[in-house]
Amino acid sequence: MQPSMFNLRVPLPERNEVFLMNTMTDAQLVVSMDVAALLDRVAATEGRADLDQFEANELDAIEQLGDNGFLVPNREAERRDLDKYFARVTSDASELNITLLTTLQCNFACDYCYQGDRGGHDTLAEKMTLDTAVRVAEWIEREIDRVRPEHFTLMFFGGEPLLNLPVMYYLAERLWRAAEARGVPMSLTIITNGLLLTPEVVDRLEPYGLSGIKITLDGDRETHNRMRPLRGGQGTFDRIVENIRRVAGRVRIAIGGNFDESSVDSYPALLDFLSAQEFADKLVKVNFKPVIRAQAPAPRGVLPLLPVGADGKPLGGTCMTGAGTRQLGGSACDSCGFGEDQMSFLREETKRHGFPTPDGVHNGPCHVHMAHAHTIGPDGSLYACPGFTGDLGLSTGHVDDRDDLVREQMRGKFDRLSPWKECGDCAFIPVCAGGCSVASHTQLADMNLPTCHKRSLESAVISLAHDAASAA
Ligand code: SF4
Ligand code: SF4
Repeated sequence: MQPSMFNLRVPLPERNEVFLMNTMTDAQLVVSMDVAALLDRVAATEGRADLDQFEANELDAIEQLGDNGFLVPNREAERRDLDKYFARVTSDASELNITLLTTLQCNFACDYCYQGDRGGHDTLAEKMTLDTAVRVAEWIEREIDRVRPEHFTLMFFGGEPLLNLPVMYYLAERLWRAAEARGVPMSLTIITNGLLLTPEVVDRLEPYGLSGIKITLDGDRETHNRMRPLRGGQGTFDRIVENIRRVAGRVRIAIGGNFDESSVDSYPALLDFLSAQEFADKLVKVNFKPVIRAQAPAPRGVLPLLPVGADGKPLGGTCMTGAGTRQLGGSACDSCGFGEDQMSFLREETKRHGFPTPDGVHNGPCHVHMAHAHTIGPDGSLYACPGFTGDLGLSTGHVDDRDDLVREQMRGKFDRLSPWKECGDCAFIPVCAGGCSVASHTQLADMNLPTCHKRSLESAVISLAHDAASAA
């Protein structure tokens, strides 16, 4: 018997207690110092703890710690459990999760986006045709029949997905009927810049399982208008907020935001603004993540920034999905580019303003590790996650099920992806899985190496501990 390698401990000196969390079982306990000391005594025996050496009341505590995964038989058994855990995550068939990029076109010219400065990206980038949408629907129907999931989740993404409403409407309606006919509940979400969001769009999709819409606001009015202008340079903040106001009572809304050094200070003002709106209580999630333009030198295996392309700009579309969770505005991709300290600051500010926000600990494993999560590009190509979209060399298949050795080999490569194997005995492995594979591929040229944000995870767990203690 010995303490689990996945134990985390946060002292709460003001209460004379300790917060314990086990990232494998997700058990969270606020315990007395005595219990923490008991764990230390077990650790000191280096796996040779004999139950006879403990008092009766200590045996009760030991039993409770064992039941919650804080004590394990030995390290080898725990490593085997970790392998089984990842095998379960990878093969989990309870959900079929499809992220569908209706177009790579965008009507914004965001300074930090890879599409921002490409002339003609508003009109020349790929857009899914209705012919392709038919083949996409057929492939998804085959997948529902093959996987037989308990739930089917469809997310529309882009580019700006609302620039291709005919494809959205067609796929939502057809797949809703297909899922219904098979007795599989379906939910539908959209990630949009919000400019073209209208009550009509919401009403049109609501009968087909529309459960939430995530909209991006990059700071207060002035900052957002600088960060996310139209291609002609006009600001977009007022119109987006008005659109949110018009739909907030009809659908769940999550707010996301991308901050950099020049905009992070404007986020408290954005939070003040949002909390003063009549739709504030309709916002189901508020979550901000960093974009940083310049690549800082980083030691091998450590990436402090968002995944970026060779031109130093972030890979468009990464880090915005609800990967790893069915909840709107989910966790993993929203935190795979940490600006460590700012991220913690904004998380606390968001909570202080009364908005729900991810805890920053439960970030993964993300969709890239799941066999039944796929991203579909506008041409019908399949990818392991949105961050790889558009690079055909990283495509894992195609909806027409064509024979393609390169894509098959790439599927195999993603199936074997396991960067956490380089992470030693890190306690965060079950909730981190070695970080973002897009970042590893872009920055380290090897998606099987971890990109580490342990400091951010540590600060998030401290915050989680204090929340747990105050709720206890
Ligand atoms: S690999 Fe990165 S971009 Fe892709 S789903 Fe995971 S966290 Fe998101
Ligand atoms: S990437 Fe870092 S924090 Fe994540 S599991 Fe590996 S060592 Fe731990």
